[in-house]
Amino acid sequence: MRWRPPASIHTRLTLWYTGALLTILLVTSGFSYWLLAVALTRDVDPSLLGLAEVIRDSVAAGHGASGALEAAVGLDSEFRDHFVQVVDARGTPTYLSSRLEGRALPLSARALDNSRAGEQTFETLQRDHRQVRLVTLPIVRDGRPSELVQVAGSLTRSHRALARYLETLFVIVPLGLGLAASGGALMARKALAPVDAMSRTARRIKAEELSRRVELRGTGDELDRLAEMLNEMLARLEGAFGEMRRFSADAAHELRTPLTALKGGLEVALRAARSPEEYRQVLGASLEDVDRLIRLAEDLLLVGRSRADLAAPRAPVDLEQLALEVLDVGAQLAQPRRVTIRIEVGEPVTVLGDVTALQRAVLNLIENAVKYTPAGGLVELTVDREDHSGLLSVRDTGPGIPSGEAARVFEPFVRLDAARSRESGGAGLGLSIARSIVVAHGGTLTLETALGHGSRFTIRLPAAG
Ligand code: ADP
Repeated sequence: MRWRPPASIHTRLTLWYTGALLTILLVTSGFSYWLLAVALTRDVDPSLLGLAEVIRDSVAAGHGASGALEAAVGLDSEFRDHFVQVVDARGTPTYLSSRLEGRALPLSARALDNSRAGEQTFETLQRDHRQVRLVTLPIVRDGRPSELVQVAGSLTRSHRALARYLETLFVIVPLGLGLAASGGALMARKALAPVDAMSRTARRIKAEELSRRVELRGTGDELDRLAEMLNEMLARLEGAFGEMRRFSADAAHELRTPLTALKGGLEVALRAARSPEEYRQVLGASLEDVDRLIRLAEDLLLVGRSRADLAAPRAPVDLEQLALEVLDVGAQLAQPRRVTIRIEVGEPVTVLGDVTALQRAVLNLIENAVKYTPAGGLVELTVDREDHSGLLSVRDTGPGIPSGEAARVFEPFVRLDAARSRESGGAGLGLSIARSIVVAHGGTLTLETALGHGSRFTIRLPAAG
């Protein structure tokens, strides 16, 4: 089974913290132990050297070593445990103190070399399974070392001190680690408690109560910013849900109107026996209602499509070509209403996009322009290029739109002149669909208008190449 990290951040934080502290404690304890070991060993050196110098001076003065050693022991009884020997220049012992029990101290090559140069040597060596510290000091006569004094002392005391220090470390390190880990765990739990509270609140918020908000603590820290972000997201969700609800209600309402008309017509027709001509009339009217329903259903499908859907597939689209194709359909609508329709092309321009979707957007604008322009009026299409954009605008000499309503007409199901629009079959979705398509293509759809002075809708799309 693979190891999986603990699920809660506060456990992970505590583990990391404890691990880091353990490493620090181990490194510092090891280092301090080493420093203490070196210091304790060096502490022995001055006393060894002192004794060695007393003996050297005594031997040099021709009084021998044993008298000097006895005098030293008389002064400080600790010297009794020291090993003392004197060897000649070839290393043959000439004096061994009684503590040596006849077994001479070794003379290393390094000590011999140093002695030749007139220098003392400190060494640590093993004797009877115990460590001893040894100093070798030359006795210089006529500029040459004639004999060597060697004094050794046991390191047992230093080792005992070191062992005690180690025991202390074995108690202090786990204790400190335990205390720090519990403190760390407490701190992590306290620091992360607001996150738990936040997730509990967030879990309680359901789709029906999106007006609820996560509580801010007013500290302005990262967690408050997270709560603010959650609240902003909730506000956006609330807005989107509200819009969706309104949209479904409006859509249902729009569907009900033609369905009621259809039902009414059919009921009247069924109430009495009718002539075939009368039936044909009713069926014709019903067919018109069904057509309206189909158009509405198609528009609703378009409104429901996502941005990515509306913009795909992407291929080069020549705006002039597109305008000419749509103009044909526009002309068929304009002719019976005696509205003139014409096109003006400036610089040719190509954009990237879905030709069918873009045709749909432009056609919606032309249909509106023709629909709302009175007989004798003019609808003009313009295609041009401006910097890195392709422009396609539809201008009409219709009634225009009050400036306060100009933004609202792009919302779904908004009809400014309900009676007139419904009579001409619009559900208020045309501009909303056109804008969605243009925006999905990375463009903008804007409106310039003034009441009584016509309207101009302009599509601006990023030019290809
Ligand atoms: P509709 O299906 O009602 O035409 P649209 O979304 O296309 O829906 O338009 C919304 C409203 O904007 C219309 O009901 C109409 O009042 C107004 N409108 C759109 N285009 C024009 C125009 N060219 N001139 C005047 N009013 C317009």
